[in-house]
Amino acid sequence: MHAYADLVEKNKRYLWNPFTQMKDYFDRRPVVIARGEGRRLIDIDGNAYWDGVSSLWLNVHGHRVPELDDAIRRQLEDIAHSTLLGQANVPAILLAERLAQIAPTGLTKVFFSDSGAEAVEIALKMAYQFWQNTGKCSKSKFVTMCDGYHGDTIGAVSVGDIPMFHARYAPLLFQSYKIPFPNRYRNPYTSSDPAFGALHAVEELFQREADQIAALIVEPVQGAGGIVPAPKGFLTGLRALCDTYDVLLIVDEVATGFGRTGRMWACEHDGVSPDILTVGKGLTGGYLPVAATLATERIYTAFYGEYEEFKALYHGHSYTGNQLGCACALANLELIERNRIIDHVAQSARVVSTRLNALRDHPHVGDIRQAGLMIGIELVEDRETKRPFPLTTRAGWRVCWQARELGMLLRPLGDVVVFMPPLASTVDEIQEMTSILCDAVERGLKEVVG
Ligand code: PLP
Repeated sequence: MHAYADLVEKNKRYLWNPFTQMKDYFDRRPVVIARGEGRRLIDIDGNAYWDGVSSLWLNVHGHRVPELDDAIRRQLEDIAHSTLLGQANVPAILLAERLAQIAPTGLTKVFFSDSGAEAVEIALKMAYQFWQNTGKCSKSKFVTMCDGYHGDTIGAVSVGDIPMFHARYAPLLFQSYKIPFPNRYRNPYTSSDPAFGALHAVEELFQREADQIAALIVEPVQGAGGIVPAPKGFLTGLRALCDTYDVLLIVDEVATGFGRTGRMWACEHDGVSPDILTVGKGLTGGYLPVAATLATERIYTAFYGEYEEFKALYHGHSYTGNQLGCACALANLELIERNRIIDHVAQSARVVSTRLNALRDHPHVGDIRQAGLMIGIELVEDRETKRPFPLTTRAGWRVCWQARELGMLLRPLGDVVVFMPPLASTVDEIQEMTSILCDAVERGLKEVVG
């Protein structure tokens, strides 16, 4: 058994945490997780915390789920890993089949990877090379949304737009066209209907530049941009414009896929099927690093050639198509279906929404945004003018520290408090977590404004 102080000392000495300001982290007495139990995480000293952000937006059923544990154990009896380059394996084939069956219409080809960012890299390379392989070599640029987030690798950062993560790497990035996202709370358009404004901006761009544009990439709900759902009809409008101007539509469902918004796919709310879909996070239920890029037959066909045609998609990592991950993902998808998780999310989302009514009139709660079990609470200094708190106030963090004191782990996006409980949380668990969330917001804001 390791002692807390010992582990933190070793963390200080050896472990560099991602997206973490290290001094600040150590100043805040970091939590060291030892195990999980259902929807809770247990630290090295035995303190239990609700997993309020699903361990970075990906946990579906909870921790130590017997069906997922068994699937991994069973797979271990056969093999842990072999390459997918130039050969195949059983769970990768079966998972590709299953994904194609449940995907939005027309997405029949599945390309595996290890993370959401990599699924996006593949989508970009696939779209670019699709046009190269079909002889339209000028189509090499991408359209993306302001405040978008598609991962932290260089290609994914190039099509992202979150200043804190992206600005410092600017000299390393390729240029893409950026369209303001139709954010209803902070409408960037003169039109009172932000979706109309955004679609108009996209159409103007396409009219000028479509022969240069390979694809447009969009999140149905902006995640790291502050949990901002696209207005209904926006994706439908994008689909129509992409069809008219022959631009590929990439929908990034790394955060929203597998039931998070109350449908299997968020683009289902608009009845839209993209040309390329990126998925990750919830694919293995929050267990193992598997992601995927799904494409249509039209795209795949452009890569289907003889040896000497060199049409292959030149991408693939050491662990692509890992058997343990694919077996776990198959068990996860089976469990999502068997336990009717999608219906359950719709019900839980209503419970959260009702409980959050307690915060709607708070003078420093600017906006509460929700898509299923994807919730963002935007804190503002002035509700009337929507003026944010100064950065140094750390209002979002203060709320999360309060939540930790109350027994739930959260991680904010600036002053947007994010709440994304595991999808299978029971209604009672959801009630309890949402109560902690509300109390933490009240307490954190009291600390800020007195
Ligand atoms: N795309 C979206 C929409 C995301 O929200 C994320 C991560 O939050 C990613 C891509 C990157 O996924 P990963 O962290 O698995 O690389």
